[in-house]
Amino acid sequence: MSPHNVENENSQPQVGKTVGPGSGTSWLAAKPNQLRVLHVEDNELDAELVAQALRKGGFAISVVVVQAEAEFERQLHLHPPDVVIADYNLPQWKGMEALEVLRREGLDIPLILVSGALGDITAVECIKRGATDYVLKDGLARLPEAVRRALQEKRQLRLRRQSEEDLARKVEELARSNADLEQFAYVASHDLQEPLRMVAAYTQLLGERYRGKLDETADKFIGYASEGALRMQSLIQDLLAFSRVGRSDAAVGQVDSNEAVQRALLSLGTAIQESGAVITHDPLPVVCADITQLTQVFQNLFGNAIKFCGKGPPAISVQAEKSGEQWLFSVRDNGIGIAPEYAENIFVVFQRLHARTEYAGNGIGLAICKKIIQHYGGNIWVESQTGQGSAFKFTLPSADPSKEGSPCKAAAAIVP
Ligand code: ADP
Repeated sequence: MSPHNVENENSQPQVGKTVGPGSGTSWLAAKPNQLRVLHVEDNELDAELVAQALRKGGFAISVVVVQAEAEFERQLHLHPPDVVIADYNLPQWKGMEALEVLRREGLDIPLILVSGALGDITAVECIKRGATDYVLKDGLARLPEAVRRALQEKRQLRLRRQSEEDLARKVEELARSNADLEQFAYVASHDLQEPLRMVAAYTQLLGERYRGKLDETADKFIGYASEGALRMQSLIQDLLAFSRVGRSDAAVGQVDSNEAVQRALLSLGTAIQESGAVITHDPLPVVCADITQLTQVFQNLFGNAIKFCGKGPPAISVQAEKSGEQWLFSVRDNGIGIAPEYAENIFVVFQRLHARTEYAGNGIGLAICKKIIQHYGGNIWVESQTGQGSAFKFTLPSADPSKEGSPCKAAAAIVP
């Protein structure tokens, strides 16, 4: 038996009337503001009561009534309804099986169960399995509200999915454009090195060979050209170093940060000696990183603390404390400090707060620190006031790499 029923706003449901091929015209007849209901029901009277309840609840409706799976599927394909209302128990079929069909077809249509009697446990089970709601046949007055809520939930779900998709697309675009930009910076700085080497070498040669042989102005001009070339070389080398962070074969794993500090102190030996800097550190933790890159972070921070020192000799201290799944490091100095309004700028490539004649440098050190720290999922910032020293703080993941899903493993996974 394949009884179907077509009803619209004005007609009565006629269970038992078979809708033959092309019966989907019933949907096409539905007006744009009509609620399209696909009703799984074998009882003509019950079908009419449901239709009445919906109309009474303020809906203009267009209903197709089906009893069996094949017809249900056919109607779904002809025109997906706004809502499915299904009798829990049919002689040949079950309302919940309609839900399986919706899932199989990948259709996101709310299904409301209508039943003569449905125990609480069964009802909860049905909701858990994906039914949007259930209404008892002797409580049909609640049906319009249930439909309204179901439609609203569906709308909200669609909006949420839409914004999640938009966000994912934007993140992907951003990652792609970042990668392009990095590639460009890398290629440009790499390929510019060679011609620049020529310019620097020949202007230097010019200076050596012709100094004093032309006039004074010529000597000055050659001097400027030579200086400019050297400066550009140094900027390009820094840019190259910056764009290499993240593309190197960094060996991500457990790194003893005491060891990274020791290595940084070793490379800064001369500067420490000349400035009389005293650098102390508490026992430091093992973190997830690459030893060379972590050494670079400490080296840049110590180097700055020495360079931007106040009147007395630099005093620098390093501490680390656990903060959730991460370690929070602090590198404090007693230097000239930074006005809070520049706290973010200083981490941007080539951003500096002083003239080169005052303090040497290209303004890339902190940008490299930031890139390294972010590469491992951490963050870096400064807390400071002019004249009151600075505290550079950064976080790094601390988890045990043997644990499944540990940040150490995750960090290893993101190294290109
Ligand atoms: P550079 O040291 O080459 O100028 P950085 O990127 O390392 O480049 O630093 C950017 C700017 O941040 C510096 O020019 C300086 O103005 C400021 N800065 C960095 N570290 C310190 C510090 N420890 N104390 C005061 N100012 C600092």
